[in-house]
Amino acid sequence: MLFDSHAHLSHAIFDEYREEIIKKLQTLEIKIVNIGVGSDEFENEKIVAIGECGLDYYRNLENKNLQKEVFIKQIELAEELGKPLIIHCRPTLGTMDAYEDALNILNTCRISRIFGAGIAHFFSGSKEIAKKFLDLGFYISFAGPITFSDQYKEIVEYIPNNRILAETDSPFAAPLPFRGKRNEPAFVEFVVRQIADWKGISFEEARRLTTENAENLFCLKTPF
Ligand SMILES: [Zn+2]
Repeated sequence: MLFDSHAHLSHAIFDEYREEIIKKLQTLEIKIVNIGVGSDEFENEKIVAIGECGLDYYRNLENKNLQKEVFIKQIELAEELGKPLIIHCRPTLGTMDAYEDALNILNTCRISRIFGAGIAHFFSGSKEIAKKFLDLGFYISFAGPITFSDQYKEIVEYIPNNRILAETDSPFAAPLPFRGKRNEPAFVEFVVRQIADWKGISFEEARRLTTENAENLFCLKTPF
């Protein structure tokens, strides 16, 4: 069993292949959390988290204040529903600005989930940033880039085994050996293999850890 903690299966690019991909996931025993769009289905019991939300200063520098306002609303919604948050932060190049602002906001909001407050998804921050998220009860999730960039090695080694997650963010950011191609949840295997390699544990152990961590965070141990 593998767990892809972040995939965009609703993306139009999958329209032709969605059924095929879902069948493949069942055969390969891969669980996913699909990142949907819309807000009319909060009562749906299959909703396991709120997001993705957060601050993107890489693509959207001009509307920082609006992003912060919306982020606060999403944090409040997660609090109201008692669900974990899936946080996306992308700083301007060479800085940690989006992470720093998000952490400042999180520190001023009331979040009653002490352990399992959410996920810092597609993590690309520093060790210091990771520590702050861990202290707030967040899990840290890594995606395809860890398979082709050594810059993540130290941080992957640093994240405690009970707080690390793997994701694809498909259809984006395919891992090696599919870099540049359309990504899909099954490729989470290569992210987990890289985590295993850097943590000096077997693939089976990394697969177990990342799956159990996701199941714990999303409360998937008990059937719906
Ligand atoms: Zn995403």
